[in-house]
Amino acid sequence: MIYLDYQATTPLAPEAREAMEPWLGEQFANPHSPYTAGRMAAAAISVARDQLSDAIGLPGGQAVFTGSATEAINWAIRGTMEKRPERSHIVTIATEHAAVLDTVEWLGRRHDVTILPVDSNGLVDLDQLREAVSERTALVAAMLVNNEIGVIQPVDRIAEIAHSKGAWMLCDAVQGLGRIPIPEGPDLVAVSGHKIHGPKAIGALWMREGCEPAPLIHGGGQEAGLRSGTLSPALCVGFGAAAKLAGSKQSEDRAHVAQLWEAATAVLGPEWTINGDIQNRYRGNLNIRREGLDAARLLEECRDIAMSLGSACASGSGRPSHVLRALGLSDREARSSIRLGFGRYTDKGDLTEAIGRINEAARKQGV
Ligand code: PLP
Repeated sequence: MIYLDYQATTPLAPEAREAMEPWLGEQFANPHSPYTAGRMAAAAISVARDQLSDAIGLPGGQAVFTGSATEAINWAIRGTMEKRPERSHIVTIATEHAAVLDTVEWLGRRHDVTILPVDSNGLVDLDQLREAVSERTALVAAMLVNNEIGVIQPVDRIAEIAHSKGAWMLCDAVQGLGRIPIPEGPDLVAVSGHKIHGPKAIGALWMREGCEPAPLIHGGGQEAGLRSGTLSPALCVGFGAAAKLAGSKQSEDRAHVAQLWEAATAVLGPEWTINGDIQNRYRGNLNIRREGLDAARLLEECRDIAMSLGSACASGSGRPSHVLRALGLSDREARSSIRLGFGRYTDKGDLTEAIGRINEAARKQGV
């Protein structure tokens, strides 16, 4: 298999696996227990939290572990609306992840929701945002790097506009963490372990001091009462190790991704169009379309190349991607698009070989 689906998930870094191992074996104590073994587990979690906070790199806040970024996002949005009952309006963007869009849709029964469009490159219009945000707005939610098209939103300026009316700003930095710096400005930041070569089923919500959402999960009062539930030392330690590695390897990873992008675009051929802005983009994401291509059929025909039709969740549904539709692409164009995602462990030769085979399969379709 040639793995080109880095936006769906990333391979576990050997360093993260190694860091996790003791916590899956003899060191199994509950990190919330008072005896020595429990305290050792709690201390390891505390180191992991610091490693993650360093990778997020924002001052004046804390990271709270969750079961996924989806949970962190649900918590940030629902918890903010509960915490700020004097404000009843949420603003977000049409190209956000389903974790944001489905949560605001669910809240739409009780709150006002504004979903801003994007231009044909996938970028939000800041004047439209300025018009939408008011003293009634509790929260503005915008992602840093789009999971489907790699486009980078101007999160610092979005936060500035939110703050000018007293709204909080949530940044879904799941695809940005460790790849590009998280700009200063957001009050809440959602991140995920498995997108940065850490383990699955762990995420975190970083929150600025004074912007803590009301808890979503109640119970044993862990995480200072903000998020109940026994933490997994193995998952936390793996996430921390991956975050530390992402920091130390950031420039090396970035240079490797730039080389992969150059190599991929050099062999792609003129029949392909890149979806989404080319400049404001994370280059480990190559979302491309080809006139007349049946992308679902192409995936069937190239089963040993792991690639995607869009987000992993939309891939199985048969629905055209809401992100590509938001760029103004027709259903037909959206269904002619594939997403190639690559990064730290991608071999340049594998990538160009895969593109050669994709091109061949496309030509066999007569397009
Ligand atoms: N936000 C973005 C941009 C994502 O790409 C994903 C994962 O696909 C999520 C949120 C959800 O992350 P998790 O898998 O940790 O729930």
